[in-house]
Amino acid sequence: MQAKSVFAKNCARKGQVLPRCKLCDEVPEEGLRGGYLINGIFICRGCEAVIMRLQVGTPDYEEMLNRIKKLWE
Ligand SMILES: [Zn+2]
Repeated sequence: MQAKSVFAKNCARKGQVLPRCKLCDEVPEEGLRGGYLINGIFICRGCEAVIMRLQVGTPDYEEMLNRIKKLWE
């Protein structure tokens, strides 16, 4: 009984510290500090950098925009 409660506790803590990026499905080593929480959705720094470099009107921009839109649907 005791071992089970410890396991559950560790899982809950792990879930809090290690968020998963909704765009690339990666878990940054730095946890929450390795990215940004936007409206409850976690985006890692790598994806954020990609978004920042995209130019408005290009196919890559449209694709990323569609992917982000789907996250909130
Ligand atoms: Zn990412």
